[in-house]
Amino acid sequence: MATVKLCGFDEELSVGKIICIGANYGRHIEEMGRKKPDKADPMLFFKPPTAIVRDRGKIKYPDFSTELHHELEMVLLVGKTGVAIPVDRALDHLLGVGVGIDLTARDIQREVMKKGFPWAVCKGFDDSAPVSDFILLQPGIDPDNLDISLRVNGDIRQRANTSDMLIDAAGLVSAASRYFRLERGDLLFTGTPEGVGTLERGDTLEAELEGLVKASFEIED
Ligand code: MG
Repeated sequence: MATVKLCGFDEELSVGKIICIGANYGRHIEEMGRKKPDKADPMLFFKPPTAIVRDRGKIKYPDFSTELHHELEMVLLVGKTGVAIPVDRALDHLLGVGVGIDLTARDIQREVMKKGFPWAVCKGFDDSAPVSDFILLQPGIDPDNLDISLRVNGDIRQRANTSDMLIDAAGLVSAASRYFRLERGDLLFTGTPEGVGTLERGDTLEAELEGLVKASFEIED
């Protein structure tokens, strides 16, 4: 069973659903040539818990792809069950915040989009959701104003502030909970800023929620 850790607490939380939002930063939408989302009805997709890799973990390069992309994202950890959660109560349902990488088999994604197939394979393969440990959401930590960054082999590839998200943390929790009952241990990947790019076998990745938490991963040779 995949678990995640809340910094400062002994308990590990079992990971339930991993809900991801597509197209949540304007400049990433431009670089991909996509359309801006409807704020009330964002494009959501899933990864299974078998996608989770924890800090200092190794990532298997998917053998069906030759174009593995990194998408750096803030990740929200759900703490409390909720259905159709209103925006003004949405943050009460969150327990923690961390950072992760929505690994994407970009070549497969292009193929399935042409065929009209779902994104299950190109987004949900094993090891496609490396995540940091989580910081307790508490006064002074605003999920809508956090710097996130990703280095690959020491070089900065993505850097952004979550204030640039088109749908903010509360909006995403509220929108997702219209369709899926949120439960403790669910994760929400909040979309990537611009600067997505390819990864190679042997690369090292360092994701950071600046000043709060860091995580590193290695793509297996
Ligand atoms: Mg993404």
